[in-house]
Amino acid sequence: MQERITWRKDWLSIYESPFSVYDKICYANVITQNEFFKHFSSPSDSSDSFLLIRGLDHAKIENLISYPLKSQSLNTITMLSEDFLNYKDHPDDFFNKNLYYCSHCSMTGYHSLFFQFKYVKECPFHLEPLKNNCRVCNKSLTYNFHKIPLNTQSCTKCKEPILFHKHSYPNYKTYTKSDIKSQDVLDLLNMDIKFKQILKGISFPRIKLREKEDLNSVLYIISEIKRST
Ligand SMILES: [Zn+2]
Ligand SMILES: [Zn+2]
Repeated sequence: MQERITWRKDWLSIYESPFSVYDKICYANVITQNEFFKHFSSPSDSSDSFLLIRGLDHAKIENLISYPLKSQSLNTITMLSEDFLNYKDHPDDFFNKNLYYCSHCSMTGYHSLFFQFKYVKECPFHLEPLKNNCRVCNKSLTYNFHKIPLNTQSCTKCKEPILFHKHSYPNYKTYTKSDIKSQDVLDLLNMDIKFKQILKGISFPRIKLREKEDLNSVLYIISEIKRST
């Protein structure tokens, strides 16, 4: 792999997942996923969030794209999960290990950490239900880095790409906070301190077992608790 690569910072959207960033690097530079993994492999650190993809040298990748991918991702992970955390919980408990994608966003090469958050069931930008199954063979997809001889992460059964780049590259559509249309997600992001304190007091004992949870009902419970106090 060359030391200088084709890369533009304005290809990145807000809350973009590391999965999506690695896919863009590979597509833009015609690198296979296994070449990328080989070039950036490092001893796996289990203290890293699985959302960063363990076993990759994140500092080396950041250096290559001149972007603080790890700290930006951790900021998003913390921002979404911190008010849900009980003393026994870990931020990763609130994110799906199965991969969820939006049909619209995936056509523009974009995948968001929001899609992996257990309290987000629909794309905050398009209000489309998020999907977990391959659009061709219906196999359930996992948030993982498969070392495959293809430029994009793909279904392990039928090889259908998960994200499509050819319609967008090199002018990727980017999403900003002002593109968020989901009122529930905006309410979560703009939650005031009193609501946050109530949320912190709620325990989610079965969160590790569940795929997706209903954000609207949590927001409703909080507003009811606030109203009655
Ligand atoms: Zn979308
Ligand atoms: Zn498939």
